[in-house]
Amino acid sequence: MTAIILDGNALAQKLRADFKTRAEALTSRGQRPGLAVILVGEDQASQVYVRNKVNACLQVGIHSEKIVYPLDTAQQTVLDKIAQLNADPTIHGILVQLPLPRHFDSDTVLEAISPKKDVDGFHAENVGALIQGRPRFIPCTPYGVMQLFADAAIELRGKEAVILGRSNIVGKPMAMLLMQASATVTVCHSQTRDLAAHTRRADILVAALGKAKFVTAEMVKPGAVVIDVGINRLPDGKLCGDVDFGPVSEKASAITPVPGGVGPMTITMLLANTLEAAERELPR
Ligand code: NDP
Repeated sequence: MTAIILDGNALAQKLRADFKTRAEALTSRGQRPGLAVILVGEDQASQVYVRNKVNACLQVGIHSEKIVYPLDTAQQTVLDKIAQLNADPTIHGILVQLPLPRHFDSDTVLEAISPKKDVDGFHAENVGALIQGRPRFIPCTPYGVMQLFADAAIELRGKEAVILGRSNIVGKPMAMLLMQASATVTVCHSQTRDLAAHTRRADILVAALGKAKFVTAEMVKPGAVVIDVGINRLPDGKLCGDVDFGPVSEKASAITPVPGGVGPMTITMLLANTLEAAERELPR
């Protein structure tokens, strides 16, 4: 079997065309959608992510503000900025690029963002709402994965879904969304015994562990849908995912490539969350 490719770039373009219309409609009603992105330090990957997010906003007509602080900035400076942005009616979404420098307490910073502007969906209030099945903001990466399933009409109900990774950003919210879609969910992590025994029975396999080409063809059930969230840089500078793409794509029924799979969808769902935040603020 050769897998169909779940093309995140193509779906992102399709969705973003619609977002442009929504952004224009908001702007014409005096509610130009706005996103503030805060970056602390000079981490190269973070700089690229922030640049991509700002450019994506520009592409669909969302106003964006990039706020960059040097590495030695005090946490209070960032908290003060967040308080100011919370009160700013031209800003509907606030995002703090992770990871923060070691002298920051990430939880304190993320909890300072107004839950109404928490477009990453990391605030405890929004995490709680997601778990209760009435999400306000769905974290962008798993939200993007759900869009890929929907676009390819992949049935989730009753399926065995196995997620590799239990981070707050990807693994845990992915598990919640798949459970709410009536899949039977297993979450694996670094302490899981006999990982391959779990992955081999997965109809839906989501790899989010950050280990290049970790998932080999032997670990995959024939006909599985394989979602590769990982972004790893190889010694030659090329990007690759957590899945050994070539051999696995011969065995799976559908697979996301890296790059061009989950990555563009993550940014796209950030735009979606920002638009939703701005639309909610419109007078009814
Ligand atoms: P984290 O490092 O926060 O979490 C990694 C998870 O993988 C942990 O739960 C860890 O287990 C688990 N893990 C690590 N090694 C193993 C192993 N050998 N076997 C089983 N489980 C293991 O990473 P993130 O969730 O933030 O990101 C994961 C990957 O996804 C990274 O490559 C990241 O760059 C990428 N990413 C991609 C995005 C996109 O848009 N495409 C967005 C966000 C992330 P434990 O908890 O026990 O330590």
